[in-house]
Amino acid sequence: MATKKATSTAAKPRYDLLIKNVRVVRPGAAMVEQGDIAIKNGRFAKIAPVIPAESAAQVYDGKNRLAFPGLVDPHMHTGIYSPLEQDAVTESRAAAQGGVTSSLNYTRTGAYYLNKGGPYKKFFPEVLQLSAGNYFVDYAYHLAPMDKRHIREIPELVETFGVTSFKIYMFYGSHGLHGRSANQSEFLMINADEKYDIAHFEFVMRGIRKAMDRFPDKAADISLSLHCETAEIMSAYSKIVEEEGTLKGLAAYSAGRPPHSEGLAIFIASYLANETDLPNINLLHLTSRKAVLAALQMAAVFPHINFRREVTIGHLMLDTDSKAAALAKVNPPIRPRDDVDYLWEQLVAGNLDWVCSDHACCKHEMKVDKKKPGNIWLAKSGFGGTEYLLAALVSEGRKRGLTWNQMAALTSYNAARRFGLHSKGDIEVGLDADLALLDPNETWTVRAADSESQQGYTPFEGMELSGRVKTTFLRGQRIYDDGQIIGKASGRYLSRPY
Ligand SMILES: [Zn+2]
Repeated sequence: MATKKATSTAAKPRYDLLIKNVRVVRPGAAMVEQGDIAIKNGRFAKIAPVIPAESAAQVYDGKNRLAFPGLVDPHMHTGIYSPLEQDAVTESRAAAQGGVTSSLNYTRTGAYYLNKGGPYKKFFPEVLQLSAGNYFVDYAYHLAPMDKRHIREIPELVETFGVTSFKIYMFYGSHGLHGRSANQSEFLMINADEKYDIAHFEFVMRGIRKAMDRFPDKAADISLSLHCETAEIMSAYSKIVEEEGTLKGLAAYSAGRPPHSEGLAIFIASYLANETDLPNINLLHLTSRKAVLAALQMAAVFPHINFRREVTIGHLMLDTDSKAAALAKVNPPIRPRDDVDYLWEQLVAGNLDWVCSDHACCKHEMKVDKKKPGNIWLAKSGFGGTEYLLAALVSEGRKRGLTWNQMAALTSYNAARRFGLHSKGDIEVGLDADLALLDPNETWTVRAADSESQQGYTPFEGMELSGRVKTTFLRGQRIYDDGQIIGKASGRYLSRPY
């Protein structure tokens, strides 16, 4: 026995890294557990109340902070307004700053992004090439089939590229990114004989269903996400609101894209999912009472469909009275306070599955019109926020009765499991050692100037948050600590199922 011990002490320590003295927040647990976390080869190797310091090559003092699983931000738009290879660097640094370790990005052909059309088998390798070596966190992409050819490519995207999630932008039938538009084939860069309409949505669903049948072992990880707004309702209402001119700013934008436009789109999407026998449906960024009610009604009507319901941190933190005004323009719109309170109620009740950032870095010079910066109709859509995701959820969620464990599920586990990231999303032996250490006692004020993002402003400016991400570990490596990004971009592409 004595000899054996001597040999093992002389040998290499059992673990690469030991994080001591943290409060482990497991998504499925009923409470938070005090303990130590040992890591080997980038994975969690042991989680126990006490692990001896001698067993690891390096020891890190966790200072009794809350250890959340590294965040999975399932809805980002890296590369939408700036060149992808630049956006990947700065916006993934912002992600790391917020405790995010997996960044899942929606991208597509057409205007913005790479600003080109064509088949995904040409487009997507370019996306991967521009991404490689530039992300500070692990990353993956969701793709939107924009025309018939893309629908035929779905099996290849699953098999060759590890893309298992797809998207439909339901409002693109008559709208561009920022408002009404009459020239959709130009914006979408599809042939003149193609239509981006409800029939196309149906055929996208049939295409995904086919891929599920072709790859039964991956079927559970394949899903479709929908941006649910109804093009026709939005076009009509935004015209009315704009012409009347009585409402201004965020209130006008919300009235121009009214909540029933979301509700109706959710009904259409759900009916088609049932019609096409497509069971995995993600209803993205629900913003209003009507949208959430419609989503819950559809879940009751079609219990065999595995719906997931998403909400963004922007829609939870801002309302139409926000000082940010046009800087908070986003699709679907920021809503009045009643809707915001309803979202929180449903989040606490467990009826919403994850909280994302919908991070789309839109710099100030691009965001608002130069001559009429207050004009909501002329402003561009989208803003960043991945760096505030956990801190904001913690600050407001604590007041409203969310538990730490619920917050972990909402920011990592639930999205990880839906999007085929089986080695992410929890603090469990064998999974990737991704962690966000949060100090729940630090109170701080949001200043865009302190962000790693290149956006330069934030609609969250001036908000006082209680709780701050202090350290982020990606596969056992410290990538962010005490206000500083550490090391080079070491994010890896997550080919799914992962
Ligand atoms: Zn989005």
